[in-house]
Amino acid sequence: MQTEPPSLMPNIDLPQFDLVVIGSGPSGRRAAVQAAKLGRSVLVVERGARVGGVSVHTGTIPSKTMRETVLNLSGWRERGFYGRAYRVKQDISAADIRARMVKTLEHEVDVLDHQFARNGVKVMRGEASFRSPHEIRVRREGEEDRIVRGRFVLVAVGTVPFRPDYVPFDGASVFDSDEIVEVPRLPRSLTVIGAGVIGVEYATIFSALEVQVTLVEPRASFLDFIDKELMEEFVHDLRDRNVSLRLGAEVTRIEFDANGRPVCRIATGRDVTSDMLLFAAGRMGATEGLDLAVAGLEADRRGRLAVDGRTLQTAVPHIYAAGDVIGFPSLASTSMEQGRVAACHAFGVPAPPPPEFFPYGIYAVPEISTVGMSEEEVRKRAIPYECGIARFRETSRGHIMGLDRGMMKMIFSKKTRRLLGVHIVGEGATELIHIGQAVLNLRGTIDYFMDNTFNYPTLAEAYKIAALDAWNRAFAAAPGAVPVAPPEGAGEALD
Ligand SMILES: Cc1cc2nc3c(=O)[nH]c(=O)nc-3n(C[C@H](O)[C@H](O)[C@H](O)COP(=O)(O)OP(=O)(O)OC[C@H]3O[C@@H](n4cnc5c(N)ncnc54)[C@H](O)[C@@H]3O)c2cc1C
Repeated sequence: MQTEPPSLMPNIDLPQFDLVVIGSGPSGRRAAVQAAKLGRSVLVVERGARVGGVSVHTGTIPSKTMRETVLNLSGWRERGFYGRAYRVKQDISAADIRARMVKTLEHEVDVLDHQFARNGVKVMRGEASFRSPHEIRVRREGEEDRIVRGRFVLVAVGTVPFRPDYVPFDGASVFDSDEIVEVPRLPRSLTVIGAGVIGVEYATIFSALEVQVTLVEPRASFLDFIDKELMEEFVHDLRDRNVSLRLGAEVTRIEFDANGRPVCRIATGRDVTSDMLLFAAGRMGATEGLDLAVAGLEADRRGRLAVDGRTLQTAVPHIYAAGDVIGFPSLASTSMEQGRVAACHAFGVPAPPPPEFFPYGIYAVPEISTVGMSEEEVRKRAIPYECGIARFRETSRGHIMGLDRGMMKMIFSKKTRRLLGVHIVGEGATELIHIGQAVLNLRGTIDYFMDNTFNYPTLAEAYKIAALDAWNRAFAAAPGAVPVAPPEGAGEALD
């Protein structure tokens, strides 16, 4: 257990806090509130105009709000029923998208401001950097620097988009992944460079607006951590919607043509020209201006800080780091948990480690969500397994909703009957996954799905269908066999 450093006697004139948090994104916010709830004095330093971080202002919430607006206004969810020509609003503009976003973000910031105020968390605006291992300098333009001291410090500065020199960002037709949320107009065609989660989300959101999208990725495959069978389904869907996938395409230059349109020069010679370009190939830890060396710390070449994964301590024990600045998995959901664990550890409160499996949500159109092992991982571990598949169109709810796409894949151990992984692509995937997550982390078996009654009609019924499919393949050895009780010890070992 962490022993708290002695109280900070020298420089008693400086404002002193038990915890100084740099950054007000999900990890900083959660750590600050947790520490305040433990009765500690907390200061959050935030350089942005408002609290909330990338998550609230340029990442999670804006991109998901844009997605929701696009799906609602385009009538996307109803097209399976009324046909591809169905529209709720004929001419969707960038202003339509912004209007809902502004409202949502305002609300999120209000909630946050209120949460900090209610818990007595102080907030200081300005750019933080280390002046010594316990002292933080806060700089604001046109004002004198302020110095504060923290017994503990949490670096929760998140990331900034990677902006290589060869990309001519201009905020008019070439954007990075932070700028695109304020897109001034909707293009007729869009090139997205980088088929990571962010690139794929935006590519598919714009494609749902009938923008002609080309997704360019230097590697031969993308989203490799997702189960391959699910990706086949996803890619099929994208191709069906005319999303042009240019895998294995290395961009050598980006220039403007005579009409001012960005042109991606590709090593193979097959260039891509479009009205607009989004560069979404990577983000860097926002550690550049922190003067880490003064605190005895060093970031890696991507600006990331190494921590003890259990405690979130950096190499300097009273300095913690959490959120995207420590790298994988770089999710708002996991960042919050890391913030909580860091605060608990600093103040000697036991915090159980997070469960083995956490869900991954990709808010593309269609959504992808996954928890546990993919079929490829199960094979690698040589676990005898069976899969069950359910298609949303097999559920009554799917019929009612007019879904012609969407599938769930479940993987079970043949030896212990334990659930090993759930993989979903389609409507509601990011919500549905939590049933699988609960069963997985509670070490449940196929029998949970066979024995329990599910609401009807629901998409969640897909769990039952997929489980039955797996059971029929793996466990129903004889015709007419009925589900049998799990063997002794089921739920203990994975395999
Ligand atoms: C387009 C996009 C979509 C995403 N979608 C999802 C999603 O659907 N689900 C999900 O779970 N995650 C998603 N993420 C990831 C999620 O946004 C991040 O994991 C999360 O925001 C990381 O939180 P954080 O605590 O590291 O801080 P961040 O949210 O990165 O915020 C860091 C804060 O620190 C401040 N800061 C930085 N340096 C200083 C300094 N020197 N002084 C003072 N303040 C400083 C910044 O201004 C910022 O406010 C998405 C990200 C992007 C970019």
